[in-house]
Formats: sequence, structure tokens, C-alpha cells
Amino acid sequence: MNERVRRFAAEWVRPWFGFWDKEAEVLGHPVAIEDHADPTWQPPDKASLIEYLRASPAALVGQVEEQPCRRCGRPIHPALYLSDGDLLWTDSAAHLVEHHDFVLPDHFVRAIRSRHYTPPEDIDPGALDRLWPQ
Ligand SMILES: [Zn+2]
Repeated sequence: MNERVRRFAAEWVRPWFGFWDKEAEVLGHPVAIEDHADPTWQPPDKASLIEYLRASPAALVGQVEEQPCRRCGRPIHPALYLSDGDLLWTDSAAHLVEHHDFVLPDHFVRAIRSRHYTPPEDIDPGALDRLWPQ
């Protein structure tokens, strides 16, 4: 278990995840891939957590093409942002959790479980304003 990664997951309280440049600003240091990856993080409901990240509504889709992941070549949409109205994350974050051992922030996990892994059909665009990284 990677203590540093788990500490980040426990202490990260922002409603967004996957905006690596913004995260670096908040933390005051660059974010490396190792700062989030821990292959020993295998919650029993990991597949359901990932499905939630994938099935939630798009908060914003930019007009840019998908790009291959630098690690595995699978497509990542660099301007796709997903949200359930309370949390906001990037397609890259979902990809990294799914394929590269990224650990979701604990409060994301709690929120998704409390929603029984069921994303909303729609989100209130007004509610998104407070979710974007400032
Ligand atoms: Zn990948």
C-alpha cells in the first residue's frame, strides 16, 4: 500500500478530480502519476465505482478529438468532463482509475456508494458552477 497515495485520497476534499494542473496549483507542487497510483487499492466494488464514473452525464464536451493514452494507447477524450451534480471529474481520471491503478479520493467513493452507484440522468447546469476548479 502506498501511504502517500492513500493520504492524498483521504485528505482531498475538492469536488473535482483529474484536473492535474489545477491540483498542482492547490498542492503547491507538480503532480506525478505516482502520486495517485496504488495497485493494492482494490475495493470490492471497484468495477461499480468505475461504471459510475463512466455512466454519469457529461458536464462539458470540448470539440477536440480523442487522443491515445500515452501509457496504453486506449482513447482518452481530453476535453470530456463528467459530473453527477456534486462531483466533477475528467475522462482522463476515469481512465486512470480504470486502467492505471489510480485511487479515487475517499469522498468520491463515499458519495458514489451513497448513491448506490446510480448516476443521475441529468445534472443542473447551474450546479456545475461551484464544481469547476477555480
Ligand atoms: Zn491508459
